[in-house]
Amino acid sequence: MNESPLHMRVAACTSDGNLRTERRPVPAPDPGEVVLKLVWCGFCGTDLFKLDNRSQPTGTILGHELVGVVHQVGAGVSAFTPGDRVVAPHHVACGRCALCRRGSRTLCPVFKENLMLPGGFSEYVLLGERIVSQAARLIPDNVPDEAAAFLEPAACVLRGVDKADIRGPGGCAVIVGGGSMGLLHLVVLRAIHPDLAVIVSDPIEERRLLADSLGATTSCGPEQLLATVEKLTNNLGADAVFDTVGGSQILKSALAALRPGGTAVLFAHAAEKETAGFELNPLFKNEHRVVATYSGSLDEQDRISDLIFSGTLDPRPLVTHRIPLERAQDAVELARSRKALKILIGPPSNGTQ
Ligand SMILES: [Zn+2]
Ligand SMILES: [Zn+2]
Repeated sequence: MNESPLHMRVAACTSDGNLRTERRPVPAPDPGEVVLKLVWCGFCGTDLFKLDNRSQPTGTILGHELVGVVHQVGAGVSAFTPGDRVVAPHHVACGRCALCRRGSRTLCPVFKENLMLPGGFSEYVLLGERIVSQAARLIPDNVPDEAAAFLEPAACVLRGVDKADIRGPGGCAVIVGGGSMGLLHLVVLRAIHPDLAVIVSDPIEERRLLADSLGATTSCGPEQLLATVEKLTNNLGADAVFDTVGGSQILKSALAALRPGGTAVLFAHAAEKETAGFELNPLFKNEHRVVATYSGSLDEQDRISDLIFSGTLDPRPLVTHRIPLERAQDAVELARSRKALKILIGPPSNGTQ
């Protein structure tokens, strides 16, 4: 078993919605648990949302898109040994309750328990037994760490894509928002629906150019969205609109861009307590569907890992920044100023202290 240092560095939430480096004891695994040494942890829009809304107690360690190297295994763990490269999600459903049995695994009462301690933005991370036994997976030798770090967010995207129920040839999808999650929608859609026309809408030109280079059929600013959809679909409308921005205004424009029978997929937080005001009769007469999607389950993670591990889906072009743990606050500022797409947080640049 590896020698563990006594202390490690973490990036902890402050009371004013930022991150700062602190020292914590290195966790030790109980039976069935595994401790990983951080390789990369993706900085997620949800992390920023939690910081901006001060929704977590001071001292909380965020981060859940984790790739690490096995440092220690607890008694009874045979699937992993020190040195293995592993990717793991933080949430795992029980698999047995009424919601799990009816296909709503991400809504299982225990799904939201954080099984990753203290959290992903930490030099060492303890994986709880349910992650180790069900959800952690070995990264094949040929798969880069940076690609594997997208397993959790890409599985969330796949769940929403499934809910859109896109069928048949010749369809068109719209992605509202060309941030890291919007462009991740693009690469996931490209991998599983290669013939689909995909429009990405974003006010920032740089993001539109990146969308074009990642295979968007076309991209446009929000004010040109409707005209762009009409032109590309011969006035039919889009089969699906994925809202990666959130809020009632976006929902309204999403509904306007849909074809009869099309689906709007809500993927993003709206402002707290925001309500949606839109006309009900067009929804009814057009058989429009508004569906929400929350997180991803083992099923989506299985399918996404097949796509990432086979190289069919390569999300690495979305990585714009790689930041060592002690500078995690830089990630917060970059994300706040919308100057980054995917930011990966890595181990401290000057080693364990
Ligand atoms: Zn995430
Ligand atoms: Zn359950």
